[in-house]
Amino acid sequence: MMNDPHQKVQASHLKRNAYVYVRQSTLRQVLENTESTKRQYGLRQRAVALGWAEERVIVIDSDLGQSGASSDREGFQRLVAEVGMGHAGIVLGLEVSRLARNSMDWHRLLEICALTSTLICDEDGTYDPAHFNDRLLLGLKGTMSEAELHVLRARLQGGILNKARRGELEIRPPVGLVYSSDGVLGLDPDRQVQHCLRWLFATFARTGSACATVKAARLEHLVFPRRCSQGARRRELLWGELDHDQVLRVLHNPRYAGAFVYGRYHGQRNVEGLVRMQRMPREQWFALIPDAHAGYISWDEYESNQRRLHESAKAIGTDRHRGPAREGPALLQGLVLCGRCGRRMSIGYHSRHGQLYPEYRCMREHIQKGEAVCQRVPGAGVDQAIGALLVEAVNPVALDVTLQVQRELQSRLEEADCLRHAQVERAQYECDLAQRRYMRVDPDNRLVADSLEAQWNETLRALGAAHEEYARRREQDAHVLTNEQHSAILALASDFPRLWSDPATPDRERKRMVRLLLEDVTLNRGEQISLQVRFKGGACRTLQLPLPLPSWQIRLTPAAVIGEIDRLLNDHTVLQIATILNARGVRPGGGASFNSRVVTRLACTYHLKPRYDRLRERGLLTLEEMAATLQVTTTTVKRWLQRGLLRGHPYSDKNECLYEPPSNHSQHTTPSAKPASGPPKPGARPRSFEGGAV
Ligand SMILES: [Zn+2]
Repeated sequence: MMNDPHQKVQASHLKRNAYVYVRQSTLRQVLENTESTKRQYGLRQRAVALGWAEERVIVIDSDLGQSGASSDREGFQRLVAEVGMGHAGIVLGLEVSRLARNSMDWHRLLEICALTSTLICDEDGTYDPAHFNDRLLLGLKGTMSEAELHVLRARLQGGILNKARRGELEIRPPVGLVYSSDGVLGLDPDRQVQHCLRWLFATFARTGSACATVKAARLEHLVFPRRCSQGARRRELLWGELDHDQVLRVLHNPRYAGAFVYGRYHGQRNVEGLVRMQRMPREQWFALIPDAHAGYISWDEYESNQRRLHESAKAIGTDRHRGPAREGPALLQGLVLCGRCGRRMSIGYHSRHGQLYPEYRCMREHIQKGEAVCQRVPGAGVDQAIGALLVEAVNPVALDVTLQVQRELQSRLEEADCLRHAQVERAQYECDLAQRRYMRVDPDNRLVADSLEAQWNETLRALGAAHEEYARRREQDAHVLTNEQHSAILALASDFPRLWSDPATPDRERKRMVRLLLEDVTLNRGEQISLQVRFKGGACRTLQLPLPLPSWQIRLTPAAVIGEIDRLLNDHTVLQIATILNARGVRPGGGASFNSRVVTRLACTYHLKPRYDRLRERGLLTLEEMAATLQVTTTTVKRWLQRGLLRGHPYSDKNECLYEPPSNHSQHTTPSAKPASGPPKPGARPRSFEGGAV
């Protein structure tokens, strides 16, 4: 009966459309296997021959170049949709197995075709999936097609693995390596390509860092080759700027060290049907044969490069991305976003006086392309502000409001519960009623008794359902706060700030608390540092922080203090000034307290006139000048000063003085000498000394 397709094609089929499904697995087949494509399009004529009008034949060819095993074939899905909606009278394919390589898709299509009485036609004949025999045959065809695919794949895979084990498998080589005509892998004869790769390895050997290599390439405006792996320009050499990923790819690839390697990556299909490549550890590589072909570096150099990369990766640390809280003090680790480019910011630490200071950085462009760092934000102030914000957010008032809202919601739930319970009571009443009616009926009256029994059963089922629904809802609403939980939440208001500021709380715990409360924080550094804080519940807060002063500015002594020192220098030595300033509670920039050295350094830095010069300007004399003026020895002058007969002003901390000239001296001393309290008469005594001395 299969040989007479016209028997199966009915008028009802001809009223609907005929769909011709055309597909080739790969673009290559589309380009090279044109005969098959032609045959597939030829099915259109067959549909016409079976009786369909030319305009009712629709060709679906949007899946050309898609494998039958792939599940996102748009054309196949459209076909299934059309069949499902009953628009299709017949589906034509070259081999029906081509419709779907996947048994599940195929059987689903058969099922739908049977339901909508749609025919299926291939080169061998026409089938009606509603008929058991046809359906069995179609099912077999589908299963065999799937098995064929499996056997093909297994055979190919086995061959590939065998070749790989021997190191003879031809794998697409990375840029810089090419297969010669006799199948031997060697360096690319293109001198420029060779030169670029040698430059890369040499620069990495010199700098020891992939980042520095990128930077050097940018600095010298070098372009690097890469081989296009797919698309119309497949295998073509493209030139572009070097980036970090490319450097790492080259450095990590053992083929540049002349090693044959297979199985470095393992593809895994995820739930969405996409294949994700996963890098495997070296001990799980399928084949690794060092010195299999020519390379740019030796195997030892390759190993040493791997070690260096591994060490710098360790130095950078893993405390950078979103992930579990780690030990570092940066509070917002993994929660900060860059306000300029939207990327996740990483964390760095400065060590100052044995303490770590965090810094939030947006480094992606810098690492990848050697460009300037997008932005750096000093973290200490940010962390402090976030801490204050959290302590403020978890306060008794805020928690009380939250609990009130919770209570309000709870009361509404109770109302709903009452209503649902009424529903259960009603079902119970109806059930009882039906039972009573059934009990009262005459058992001989079978007809009535049967219908009443059915009614009773019906109400019993309804009662069971109502009970079930009630219990389910009640359980759903059962997340009621107990009194203990209630008081625990309120206690949090006082506990949280205490715990937060307790120095014994480890940084990791503090970070975990932040993660419970905050979704993320966006940082932007402009005139000020702006923080956009997003709480878990969706609330947002914006904070503005002043930019912290640069360290040199922190160490700067305020101008007012300098002015004060300048003023004090008129009448005091540096030691005295230090004592005065300390007594007033003034602090020098970046220091704990003043001492003579600090005051001297400040005076020197700000070019304050030395006290010595000031005194000299006021006409004071040096020891020698004084001795000459009074015509005595310097020792005598010192002795007179000690006895208070002369007035001197110290200008250093070693009791070195400048002397007021004698005219001043007499003016000063005469009045003080007049009361004859002191034994020596100042007017006469010097002279007598003088006389004695001479
Ligand atoms: Zn950025």
